[in-house]
Amino acid sequence: MHVWIEAIFGILFPVARPPRPWARLERPFCERCAEPFARPVAASFECANCAKRNWSLGRLRAAYREQGSVREAILGFKYGRKFHLRPWLGRWLADGFREHYAAEQWDAFVPVPLHPERRRKRGFNQSAEIAGWLGKRAGIPLVEGLRRVRATVPQARLTRAERLRNLRGSLVLAPGFDPRGKRLVICDDVFTTGATADACAKVLLRAGAGEVVALAVARR
Ligand SMILES: [Zn+2]
Repeated sequence: MHVWIEAIFGILFPVARPPRPWARLERPFCERCAEPFARPVAASFECANCAKRNWSLGRLRAAYREQGSVREAILGFKYGRKFHLRPWLGRWLADGFREHYAAEQWDAFVPVPLHPERRRKRGFNQSAEIAGWLGKRAGIPLVEGLRRVRATVPQARLTRAERLRNLRGSLVLAPGFDPRGKRLVICDDVFTTGATADACAKVLLRAGAGEVVALAVARR
């Protein structure tokens, strides 16, 4: 997808500008997985779910809740091929980056990979497209440093235990990518449980990455 195609879409379909997102992902939330809490809590805490989990990711963060215009834009871009939404999703990802990570130094954005067959059918990896948009503007390279080596059933239809089984062994380092000592941000359009991003982090840390965190446009 090229910038000029987006620009032409913007001229032809100015009404395609999505409504402003209204549901920011805001504290109080779990410092690890960003699960929001309705009531105020102690300054820094981990949720009960994270206390039982052995995360590879240092932190998960997102800009928005997966609701309303954000949810519609994510689905429209991914499944509806509404490519003019890419800069909006990029801006919304940037909102999350500014708020949660921009104060630190990062070596690369690493998109959650799609299995090659799914990528071929869809024609693009939505996470790479959105993260690439932000990377250009933030001056942080997009590195497709991970590969899926076998098809997985879409995670959204599975229970947590099934998700972990489904992911096990399906992610490997891309040839030529050396993450040793690097500080990396795994990027995705939406997090549900964070299991996929965490499986990505595990592969990168095992290969020597210094720190791995995750950022999505939206969190369920
Ligand atoms: Zn948590």
